[in-house]
Amino acid sequence: MDPLLSGLLAAVASTSRSVDKNRVIKAYDFARLAHSGQTRKSGEPYLVHPVTVAGTLASWNLDTTAIIAGLLHDTVEEGSAQAGDIQKAFGEDVWRLVNGVTIVTGIRLTGNKDAYFVENLRKMLLVMARDLRVVLIKLADRLHNMQTLQYLAPDRQIVNARETLEIYAPLAERLGMNEIGGQLEDLAFPYLYPGEHRDLVKLIQPLFKSADVYIEKFRRQLVALLQPKLPSAVINIRHKHLYSLWRKLARPDIAGDLSKVHDLVAARVLVDTADQCYQALGLIHNQFHPVPYLGMRDFIANPKPNGYRSLHLNIFGPEGRIVELQVRTHAMHRQAEMGVAAHWQMHELKSTGKLSSQDIDKGKFQVSDKLTWVKQLMAWQAEITDDQAYLEALKFDALAHRNLVFSPKGDVYDLPHGATPVDFAYAIHTGLGHQVAGARVNSQQVALSHLLKNGDVVEIIVDRKRTQPSHEWLDFVVTTTARREIAKSLKT
Ligand code: MN
Repeated sequence: MDPLLSGLLAAVASTSRSVDKNRVIKAYDFARLAHSGQTRKSGEPYLVHPVTVAGTLASWNLDTTAIIAGLLHDTVEEGSAQAGDIQKAFGEDVWRLVNGVTIVTGIRLTGNKDAYFVENLRKMLLVMARDLRVVLIKLADRLHNMQTLQYLAPDRQIVNARETLEIYAPLAERLGMNEIGGQLEDLAFPYLYPGEHRDLVKLIQPLFKSADVYIEKFRRQLVALLQPKLPSAVINIRHKHLYSLWRKLARPDIAGDLSKVHDLVAARVLVDTADQCYQALGLIHNQFHPVPYLGMRDFIANPKPNGYRSLHLNIFGPEGRIVELQVRTHAMHRQAEMGVAAHWQMHELKSTGKLSSQDIDKGKFQVSDKLTWVKQLMAWQAEITDDQAYLEALKFDALAHRNLVFSPKGDVYDLPHGATPVDFAYAIHTGLGHQVAGARVNSQQVALSHLLKNGDVVEIIVDRKRTQPSHEWLDFVVTTTARREIAKSLKT
């Protein structure tokens, strides 16, 4: 058999989902014909690209329809197929996905054509709210295109790398696909910041090496510690992604000091149940002391807004070195790495296909609560008519890197960098926002313009008699919600 096809079938067979092999073979033949004679810039047959994309989708455990759409995603745009042929041979569902990917591919981040960009992004969100598989296919497509970026002309490299860093990597992260987001960032990094990338690699390689030796020693001690009580525990070692390391080094509290980065190389303990996570925690803390202040964060009891669950431990390892450890179940791990793709069915619209795009434009749609940001964007896109405002809301609020901030009761709020206690209050409730009189962060009284940091516990002090926000707040709030609610209230 053709080695490309047998490779794909092997990938399909290794997933936990039952995939219709005959339909996959039929789609493979269709793609082979549509791309016959075509080559990629790398000189490889074009067919390698859709087959790689389909294989990635299979490894993400997606269904037959998505895998087939992955195989066919370029057959109309780049190949010789007609839309009608796909509809006839594979049905409406497959065609909707292929067409959705084509629309999403049309999005280009060209600074001077914002209106065009916004229009496409609106379309993308509409498509995405109807079927997230479109975005997953697009991410698999982008992953392979970034892995083969060296064959493109330098100006295309920069454009694609920038788009990947600004749109696709944050999008993957917002969908909870942290592993894919990290990979996309690392693929874009050397094209956008070649000097910085080279310097960091030179600096980090020996450190990775010595950290590996140390962590391996620590791993053996952990195995000996956990094995008697938790025989099925698995311990993994992982290297921090380079781009996220570079970004961390730029943080004011780290200021380039590598000795303050404790997760350069980290260990991960995987067990079967949440109970076993806490059991492992007890065993580990009993032997290795937690680091004061860094201590431990319990994202199992308090999951992150994107659904991420895990225990994060900072402990004094052998020789007194600080080690970061994550403890989670296998299921939590799958979700942490693959996010939405791990169980995209849960997020599918209940009324898939039954909603018209006019309904969606009016905001009549349901998206799982786990994806509130998708919901929020959809609501805005119906509400905000000014393209520039929409673009800013989108680029900033949805795709910027976030801080997780806690209420005194332990509820988690996901706010962009630069957010203040006023932004926090409006994120909870508009009424609360209007009545802000003061704030305490980590029990300390702070100014209302205080910049919140990741992990802050924020308590809002209210003035019940107050009904209107203050005009000055507009000088420092950064979230679209706060800005809009304040402006709206001041107008009346
Ligand atoms: Mn493609």
